[in-house]
Amino acid sequence: MKPKYIISSCLVGVKCRYNATCSNTVNLVDMIDSGEAIPVCPEVIAGLPTPREPVEIQQTDDGLKVTSKEGNDYTQQFLYSAEEVLKICKENNITKAILQSRSPSCGFGKIYDGTFSGKLIDGNGVVADKLFKNGINVVTDEEFKK
Ligand code: SF4
Repeated sequence: MKPKYIISSCLVGVKCRYNATCSNTVNLVDMIDSGEAIPVCPEVIAGLPTPREPVEIQQTDDGLKVTSKEGNDYTQQFLYSAEEVLKICKENNITKAILQSRSPSCGFGKIYDGTFSGKLIDGNGVVADKLFKNGINVVTDEEFKK
């Protein structure tokens, strides 16, 4: 079967989240096993280690920045992984993505506000935004359950 979807790796049992855990919100493993979907972790693609510092997106006068609470700047790695994930979609003619909600990479519709206080705002993770703006149908794990 040709893949139709990419899925955030952490949604299909890969312990690649910043704290080396996976998500258990939905069961999408069958889609990987059947070949219907490809697992992708943008932050691993960016070369970041697991576990790693949690980061959030800040909107600054100079544009988007992705930083940790300590101020370490990961913007370039996130922009790089967005290009790479889009490339994977294009190479495989994939037009749909199921991504982990609220992540600074994969979140779609709602993300944390950049203050590390747990507050959500409207917005997209860097990768989700890139895919959406290039015509990929993006849903989060939460929407996919509906
Ligand atoms: S949310 Fe995205 S970037 Fe974060 S661990 Fe899951 S797949 Fe990787």
